[in-house]
Amino acid sequence: MKPISEFDPKSVEIVFTDIDDTLTDSGQLGHVAYEALWRLKDKGFKVVPVTGRPAGWCEMIARFWPVDAVVGENGAFYFMYKNKKMRRYFSTSLKKYRKEKRKLEKLEKEILKKIKGTAVASDQFCRLFDLAIDFCEDVKPLPIEAAVKIKKIFEANGAHAKISSIHVNGWFGNFNKLKTCLYWARQELGVDLKKHNKKALFVGDSPNDEPMFKFFENSFAVANIDKFLSQIEHTPKFVASKPGGQGFAEIVKRLCL
Ligand SMILES: [Mg+2]
Repeated sequence: MKPISEFDPKSVEIVFTDIDDTLTDSGQLGHVAYEALWRLKDKGFKVVPVTGRPAGWCEMIARFWPVDAVVGENGAFYFMYKNKKMRRYFSTSLKKYRKEKRKLEKLEKEILKKIKGTAVASDQFCRLFDLAIDFCEDVKPLPIEAAVKIKKIFEANGAHAKISSIHVNGWFGNFNKLKTCLYWARQELGVDLKKHNKKALFVGDSPNDEPMFKFFENSFAVANIDKFLSQIEHTPKFVASKPGGQGFAEIVKRLCL
């Protein structure tokens, strides 16, 4: 991973960013990161948070934050608030997803029984598609090995699963963050990021960001990625010297040179 000073920001028009522990510090969105988002917006960048957080949160983020869209529940949807209209694209139909929801309810029972100290994430009631198991947000923090075990239970039952810095999210279906980001750029901006990779940049902090780190030539992590490096095969190309929101602001500063 190279230092940010080696990054050439010329081609970037779109900024995709993770939220938890990338924009936030100890669970809160501080003024440094929030100001950095406004700075990007004022400079004319397209800004899209990409998160495992639920639909209920994303409704608020799309409406209230200085962003162009938000990709939520690990790519299950994107929401866009434009010209006083909320537009919601879903990767899979909610109606068809009922059967999968029932399978997730069964998995929830199995995981809570097998992995002691975990809990259903407190934001689960706002979710439409996935099941989020808390291993490091409101519960007493569990080691990364516990998160890996949860992920394996999801996968043994045919679900997809990703580990963030606070939750393990599991879902059925073929959507993911990267696919939904590429679809958003094509659909809403007419930009094919497979051909014009360097038009976008991604910032993240944990294993669930790995497909984004792998795809984007301009991929960044904030400094707190260090605790997850053993879980990540495709590391980002650049790393900030500071963690969380301060690290994000460092990247934005370089971008807005
Ligand atoms: Mg994160």
